[in-house]
Amino acid sequence: MQTYLDHNATTPLHPEVLAKMLPHLTTHFGNASSTHETGRTARRAVEEARGEVALLIGCEPEEIVFTGSGTEADNLALRGVAGALAGRGAHLVTSAIEHHAVLNCARDLGEKGCRISFAGVDRDCAVDTEEVLSFVGEGTILVSVMHANNETGALQPIERIGAACRERGVLFHTDAVQTAGKVPIDVKRLAVDLLSLSAHKIRGPKGVGALFVKKGTPLRPILFGGVQEEGLRAGTYNTAGIVGFGAAARLARLSLGEQATYLGALRERLERGLARIAPEAVFLVPPARRLSHTLTVCFPCEDNRSIVTHLDLAGIAVSSGAACNSASEASSHVLAAMGVEPSLAAGSVRFSLGAGNTEADLDCVLAALKGVLARRRGAGLVASTLRLLKKAGERA
Ligand code: PLP
Repeated sequence: MQTYLDHNATTPLHPEVLAKMLPHLTTHFGNASSTHETGRTARRAVEEARGEVALLIGCEPEEIVFTGSGTEADNLALRGVAGALAGRGAHLVTSAIEHHAVLNCARDLGEKGCRISFAGVDRDCAVDTEEVLSFVGEGTILVSVMHANNETGALQPIERIGAACRERGVLFHTDAVQTAGKVPIDVKRLAVDLLSLSAHKIRGPKGVGALFVKKGTPLRPILFGGVQEEGLRAGTYNTAGIVGFGAAARLARLSLGEQATYLGALRERLERGLARIAPEAVFLVPPARRLSHTLTVCFPCEDNRSIVTHLDLAGIAVSSGAACNSASEASSHVLAAMGVEPSLAAGSVRFSLGAGNTEADLDCVLAALKGVLARRRGAGLVASTLRLLKKAGERA
C-alpha cells in the first residue's frame, strides 16, 4: 500500500460505507422505481441517503438531485439553467480557475451560442468578486464560481458573491465538490441556488454525485428518459452508490470539525518540514485562505512530473495538479491564472491529506523528498559541470 497524500483526487472508501452498500449490491437489488416491496426497499434506502446528503449542506431532501458524478452535477447546473432560461438570456459568468467540469462545459456552451465571461484571480488564487459582478448585466442568467479550488485548496468568497447575485436577481451555482464534508456548508447562508457534490471525495463510492437545486430554480434536464428525480435525472437509480453517498455524508458531517483540526495540524507539520528541507520552496495561498488539508508547493527549477514519479517509486502518492489532467501534458490553468511564472509552476506539487494519514506518513514523505531533491540537485550539478567542460573544450 502506498503512503497516500492525494485525497483531492479521490479518497479510499470508508469500511462503514462499504458495509452499508453491500446489501444493495446483493440482497436488496430492487429497482428503486418499482412499486413492489423489493423496489420499495431500494427506494427507502435512496430516500434515507437523500436526507443525509441534505443534512450535510442544510437543505431540504427534495432539493437534492442524485447524478452520476460531480462532473454531471456541474453540467446539469450550467446546461440546465442555459436550457431553461434560453428565452431570457444567454450570458454566463464563471472564473478562470474552475474545474474542467465547469470550464469545458462553459466553453461548449460558448460554442453553442452562449456568451461566457471568465473572471480572474489574484496571486493567492482568490476570485475577483468585483470583476465577477462587473460582468453581470442584461442577459446574464447564471454565475458559477467554485467553493474551493481542487489544485490549491483556495477558498472563494462564495457568500459575498451569492448575496450580490441574489440582489441582482441572477442565479448562482457553486461547485462544492472539494468542500462538502470538509468545511461546514449551509446553502441558505451561502445564498446559492445550485451546488454540486461528489461522493468519492468524502470516502464514498465513485460514480455518484448530487446537485442541490433550490426550490423553484428553473432547470432543464440534460438526460432524457424516465422520470426519476422528478424528471431532472433520467436513469435507473444507482441504489448502492447513493446509499454509499448517504453513509459517507453522515460520517463526514459527524467528524467534520475534528477532521479539519487533525488534518490542519498534520498539514502544518508537513509545511514546516518542507520549508526545512527546501528553503527555496514557494508555498501557494496563505493557510487561512485554503482548505486545511491541502498544500501546493512550488520547487523552483524543478520538474514536478519527475518529483511525482520519484516519490511514486518510493511508495508515495502525491500529485502535480488535478488528477483528471495528469494524462494531458498541459500545464495548470489555475497556476497560470494566478500569475505563477511558468518556470515556478513547472515545479508545483500538491499534497492533499486525509483521515488515514499520520505523522509517520509525513516523516516518510519528507525523508523521500529530501533524497529526491538532493539527487536532482546532484544531477543538475553534474549536467552543468559537463556543459561548462564542453564549452571550455569548444573554446580550447
Ligand atoms: N469539481 C471539482 C472541484 C473537482 O475537484 C472534481 C473532481 O476532481 C469534480 C468537479 C468532478 O467530480 P467527479 O470526479 O465526481 O466527476
